[in-house]
Amino acid sequence: RRAAALAAAQDECRSADGTRIELFANLGSPDDAVTAAARGAEGSGLVRTEFLFMDRATAPDEAEQRASYQAIADALPGRPIIIRLLDIGGDKPAPYLPLAQEQNPMLGQRGIRATLAHPELLETQLRAILGVRPAGQCRIMVPMIASLSELRAVRATMDRIVGTSGAQVQLGVMIETPAAAVTADLIAAEADFLSIGTNDLTQYTLAMDRENAAVAASVDAMHPAVLRLIARTCSGGARHGRVVGVCGGLASDPLGIPVLLGLGVTELSTTPGFVPEAKALVRRLDLDRCRDLARIVLELGSATEIRARVRAFTQELA
Ligand code: PEP
Ligand code: MG
Repeated sequence: RRAAALAAAQDECRSADGTRIELFANLGSPDDAVTAAARGAEGSGLVRTEFLFMDRATAPDEAEQRASYQAIADALPGRPIIIRLLDIGGDKPAPYLPLAQEQNPMLGQRGIRATLAHPELLETQLRAILGVRPAGQCRIMVPMIASLSELRAVRATMDRIVGTSGAQVQLGVMIETPAAAVTADLIAAEADFLSIGTNDLTQYTLAMDRENAAVAASVDAMHPAVLRLIARTCSGGARHGRVVGVCGGLASDPLGIPVLLGLGVTELSTTPGFVPEAKALVRRLDLDRCRDLARIVLELGSATEIRARVRAFTQELA
């Protein structure tokens, strides 16, 4: 345990002015957790649990899921692990989930909508996560929230499973629809933390498919509309004292990081390989200067102008 505490102290990330910024990694398998640990990740801000559910004929049972989540927790001892509930549907189909053929799967039964329609999947996954030891290391995150009622439904299920045991597990949400970003203050009143999924937030804000090559060049999270929604999410989270993180691709973008910190984000979850570079960058940033930068870019009219302005900012860094 002393070795783990020492490693944690060495890996702790602060900006140049001493503000604590948690630097986490996104994981898609237990192997990723080993890589993340080697790269100095302070935990995981997003475990994409779809890896357990895709390319197979039946859903994984509670024991199989728990073993995978436990392996991830064990690879990052003493560090927070944010496990995202199944985000299936849309671009991520599963054969045993009888979802109807949909004309617009990205606007249909995906994420928490699909899981709430199959309560046995939700319950099994919650039980598996709640079974990981030590209790509380794993936190739970709900994907694709559009309405507060979805968070309430998940919390009710979790409370029922936890029962009177008194186990404390944080339950947070992803902010990846414009609806969630605009109502972040309402959601933050009932969620333990917020984490912005800039990939989907960009797709749904711009109404541009993130996988469509024809529009790919314009699907930029630095679009002023997306940045304004991130700003709104940060102020909504701050109103209730919640941590606002980013686990979407903008957290792994060197030009995105100064803007995100300036907007009030205090947790970044990047690809495992990018953790050292992200930390090195954060350690050079002064948050007052990032706030000034954020104020400026929020008034610019395009992602291109915003990127040019941020590039000038990073070139001036000592
Ligand atoms: C996101 O949408 O930004 C996100 C992190 O989730 P995913 O990329 O898995 O949809
Ligand atoms: Mg997403």
